Amino acid sequence: MKGMIVISYSAKDNINYNDWMLNYLNTTDYYRPRKHFKCRNPMHNDNKPSMSFNPKNNKVHCFSCGCNYNLIELLKADLNVDYRGALIYIRDNLIKDEPIKTHDNARESPTINYSRKVEYNYEYLKKRGINANLQMILNITYDSYRKCIIIPTSPTTSTERFIEGEFRYLHNGSIELYKPYYRAKLPSIIVEGEIDCISIYEAMGVDSISAMRNVKANVIALGSANNWHKLANSKIDNLIIALDNDNAGREATIKLTQELLRLGKNYKLVNLYGQYKDANECLMNDRKHLESEVIKCLENG
Ligand SMILES: [Zn+2]
Repeated sequence: MKGMIVISYSAKDNINYNDWMLNYLNTTDYYRPRKHFKCRNPMHNDNKPSMSFNPKNNKVHCFSCGCNYNLIELLKADLNVDYRGALIYIRDNLIKDEPIKTHDNARESPTINYSRKVEYNYEYLKKRGINANLQMILNITYDSYRKCIIIPTSPTTSTERFIEGEFRYLHNGSIELYKPYYRAKLPSIIVEGEIDCISIYEAMGVDSISAMRNVKANVIALGSANNWHKLANSKIDNLIIALDNDNAGREATIKLTQELLRLGKNYKLVNLYGQYKDANECLMNDRKHLESEVIKCLENG
């Protein structure tokens, strides 16, 4: 497990990545010290090498199209990833053991510096029966200042579970269907909460990427019982509905199934949790029951 990593960047994204840019360039097959190379801008079809690295500002510059990339922008272009993907690449590939230095030339650039920590704390969900590898696969991070685990639900939204105090859940942005590793050809088990979704993957024995690739069903969380209409109006079909065994869950099940009938979609209702309220409660109290019920409901087609 990696230690705490502090990635510092300024409000104007005027990033001083110190040596990371050069470290990265040295891993590529196009970079040659003090020589021009083919422009990395995907929109620029560079016939003669027009790009070079400027160590003074840690950017690559194209003298033909004029693009001027910092490390994040270069990684986005080279690896076809988003901002977050670029940060993850930096964390996993360019940072060695040393913690990252913060902004060195803060005095020269009068911009505010923010710090973002990408941290992990697998203990909370381990107590709820969920193995650390699965948490890693699902990219679940931790905010030690606010004391919450962060479950990414889309590239721009997340659900946070606070692990201390009365306040429990916060949705950042809209409440999205949580469907990690969704594949259209598989049936989809539908649950309410994100942690229930993760609990079903746990019950399926997912503790590696290859195990995730071999699962026989998608698992999708509504994010909230009231979010059933988002699922009904999606293209997702062949549903195995296993919402919570409580009043809110039963009400949502009725509304959802009425709408699915109207739309002519395939579904079946199952109770995977026996006497327990939801997938995580069942996982924590009677793991065997949940495991065998999940297998059973997939075997019966
Ligand atoms: Zn260019």
